Amino acid sequence: MADPEKRVQSIIQKLKAKAHKITPQRLAIAKILAVSEGHPSVEAIYEQLRGDFPTMSLATVYRNIVLLKSLGEVLELGFPDGSNRYDGKRPVPHPHVICIQCGKIVDPVLDSLDEMKKEVAGETQFTILTHRLDFFGICRPCQALKK
Ligand code: ZN
Ligand code: MN
Repeated sequence: MADPEKRVQSIIQKLKAKAHKITPQRLAIAKILAVSEGHPSVEAIYEQLRGDFPTMSLATVYRNIVLLKSLGEVLELGFPDGSNRYDGKRPVPHPHVICIQCGKIVDPVLDSLDEMKKEVAGETQFTILTHRLDFFGICRPCQALKK
């Protein structure tokens, strides 16, 4: 699932299955999301593609992300200030660690996550469908800046 080329192929297949055209812009956006280096924002993807597609608008990038999100191929990390970020590398819900200084977002590997889900289900008697789990902190480079 982490292989970017496989992720791109999976996104393309999903688009084709729903009769969506594979435009060059759409493909380029999918390729960036398949890697999701640093969990990019709409603006970051737009900036990255501006050179190759000078006539493409920010709204086009946004619309394509919304489409891929609706197909379950992109995970949206929503924040109250509207600075949403996206993960197309791992589109299923998973925990994130967010630097409050520079906005870096990384995926921690948590062995305890399955245990936590069982605990929550047991305690609340809910059928757990999904989760969002964000840890906020200060990354190593930002810690170094403060010294
Ligand atoms: Zn940082
Ligand atoms: Mn992620």
